[in-house]
Amino acid sequence: MGRYSIWVLEYACSDTHPVSATFYGAHNEGTLKLPFAYVLIKGPGIVAMVDVGYNNVGFAKDFAASIGVGGWHSPQEVLGECDVSPEDVTHVFLTHAHFDHAGGTALFPNARFFIQERELTGWVAAMALPRRFRTLTGGIDPGDVIRLVELAKDGRLTTVTGAQQDVVPGIDLHPAFDSHTPGSQYVVVRNSGGSSEDVFVLAGDLIYKYENLNDGNEADPAYVPVGLATGSQWNLVFACDEMLRKVGGNEKRIVPMHESRLAEFYPSRINQHGLQITEIALGDGEPSRVS
Ligand SMILES: [Zn+2]
Repeated sequence: MGRYSIWVLEYACSDTHPVSATFYGAHNEGTLKLPFAYVLIKGPGIVAMVDVGYNNVGFAKDFAASIGVGGWHSPQEVLGECDVSPEDVTHVFLTHAHFDHAGGTALFPNARFFIQERELTGWVAAMALPRRFRTLTGGIDPGDVIRLVELAKDGRLTTVTGAQQDVVPGIDLHPAFDSHTPGSQYVVVRNSGGSSEDVFVLAGDLIYKYENLNDGNEADPAYVPVGLATGSQWNLVFACDEMLRKVGGNEKRIVPMHESRLAEFYPSRINQHGLQITEIALGDGEPSRVS
């Protein structure tokens, strides 16, 4: 038991995601099932999330449909599985601004949001480029970037520059610049508060699946960067290595958000809508939401 409970909550799914988008260089290997999820972290006086999914209206709804993502359910329904409502959320750590991670900010009226400054300014700069550069912003809903700026105006956005320890007690943010996106970051939960082994890394899209860490080869593992990146594959590989060192080499303590195999390693259940709830950790006194 530790300070924080952690759940990975699926909110939508693609049954036909290209393998080549998941693993760099895996061309002509068809499609795979890719859950879309966010993470709930609950501790004393804190209800935090890592990413917020997208809001299933307008641009995001059409874009999701165009890439085969469906079965969306609202944060009200999804967080309700853990007896939390969107209004309860106090902190949101945005790993990056792709539509499926940062599109739902308007659904969390009481939260403070944290994002790497370079992620926000990078996308504003990319949006200002001539039309011919538009492939750079392929995963971005411009409305999400505008909402982030509005959150800044309203005093509800904190831009982080580099690593920041104890954003709330025991939770740290670490950047992976020019990797999946201009200012991606991952979240480290030190669940005993110190530097002991009770550490989890919430990886955002720096990995989609465990195979990004090991190439499916336990005997002779290799880092395989995700297929979708506007930054550098080199930086993605080194981000994998950095995250793995944060958890003492224990791959399973890195939590990918698009991994359909989490249930092999953590207690989980499927709700009535077919969405998976995975319990990564249970804090002191917190009842299980999967058993
Ligand atoms: Zn992404």
